[in-house]
Amino acid sequence: MRAFSCPICQRLVTFESDRCLHCGAAMAFDPATRGLVALDFGTVAVADAATQAVEGRERCANAVLVGCNWLAPPEATPEGESPALCASCALTRTRPADDDAEGLERLAGAERQKRRLHFELLELGLPIANGQREEGGLIFDLLSSANEPVTTGHADGVITMDLAEEDDAHREAMREQLNERYRTVLGHLRHEVGHYYWTVLVGAAGDEERLARARELFGDDREDYGEALDRHYAEGAPEGWQEQHVSAYATMHPAEDWAETFAHYLHLWDALQTAASYRVSVAGPAHVTDPSGTFAGRVADPVVGRFPEALEQWLPLSYALNALNRSLGNEDLYPFVLAPPIVEKLAFVDRAVAAAAGAPTADAAA
Ligand SMILES: [Zn+2]
Ligand SMILES: [Zn+2]
Ligand SMILES: [Zn+2]
Repeated sequence: MRAFSCPICQRLVTFESDRCLHCGAAMAFDPATRGLVALDFGTVAVADAATQAVEGRERCANAVLVGCNWLAPPEATPEGESPALCASCALTRTRPADDDAEGLERLAGAERQKRRLHFELLELGLPIANGQREEGGLIFDLLSSANEPVTTGHADGVITMDLAEEDDAHREAMREQLNERYRTVLGHLRHEVGHYYWTVLVGAAGDEERLARARELFGDDREDYGEALDRHYAEGAPEGWQEQHVSAYATMHPAEDWAETFAHYLHLWDALQTAASYRVSVAGPAHVTDPSGTFAGRVADPVVGRFPEALEQWLPLSYALNALNRSLGNEDLYPFVLAPPIVEKLAFVDRAVAAAAGAPTADAAA
C-alpha cells in the first residue's frame, strides 16, 4: 500500500480515510488516479478546499452502508438519482439484506479488505474486468452463514466468502482447528482471487511453456480434487512440507499450492510497497555485526517482474517486524520461512503477473 497525505494540509492520512483528522477536509479515494482527493462537500475546514476538490464527483453509493471511501465512477449522476457504486463495491453481486444488521457490519469489514485487494490488483496491472461477467471478470458473493451454509471458495471468477470470517472469535477458532499460522479475511480474498488468476495468467493464457513450467513447480492441476481433499483431511500435510510449500494447506492440491503462493505474493508485494512508501530502512545483519557500518537499507518500491530482488529486502525487514512484535508481547508478524523452492514459485507468479501487465521481467532484461 502507498502512503497518502491529505490533499489540503498534506498531513498523513490512510488509504481508508474519508476525512482528515487534522484539517477536517472531506476526501475520497479515486481508483482512476489511485490517490485521495478532496471533495467539495461536507465540512471542509480550510478556505482553499474548493479549488482542489473534484468537481461533480460523488462518493460511492455504499459510503454510508459499508463506510466505503471510494469515489463513484466519473460519469455524472443524473439529477435526482442516487450515485453509483464505486469500482470495488460494484464487484459485489450478493450481500446481506438491508435488515441484517450483523451481516452488514461484517460486510463493511470485508469490503474494506476487498478495496485493499482491488487497489493492489490495479497497482500490479492485473485485469479485473469490472463487473463484466459476460467477459469473465471477477465478481463477489459476500454472504452471511448465520442464515444459510456458506462455503468460501471460487468458481470461474465468482468469489464466495463467508462473512463469519469477519468475526474474530470464529476466525481464531478455525485457525486453531486447522492448525494454521495465519488466517485473515484479506488472506482469504487473496487466496480465492488466486484461483481466478491461475486461469487468466496460466491455465487459459495460451502459453504452453508457462503452463508446463507451472506444472513442474506446483504439480499437475488436473489431479483429482475430491481425492486430494479427502486425503488432506484424513492424513494432513506430509512431513517436511515447509521445504516445498508456503502453508500446510498448499500441500493439498496443485491448484491450492498456486492459490496459496499467489496470496503470499500479494502479501509480500503489499508489505514491501508499504515499507517503501513510508521510507522504512532496515540495516539488517550487516548493521548488527558491524555497528559502525554505514549500511542504509531503505526498502525500495517492489517492481513487477523483478520480485526476487525485492524479496532480498524482505528478510531483514521481516526480522525487524517480528522483533518489534515480540517487544510488544505479540506473536511474530511474519511467521513464515521461505525455503528456496517457495521463492522459485513466488518468482514464477511474479513473471506471470508481469506478462499479463506487460511489464519487463528480470529474464527479459538480463
Ligand atoms: Zn488535512
Ligand atoms: Zn464503494
Ligand atoms: Zn483454494
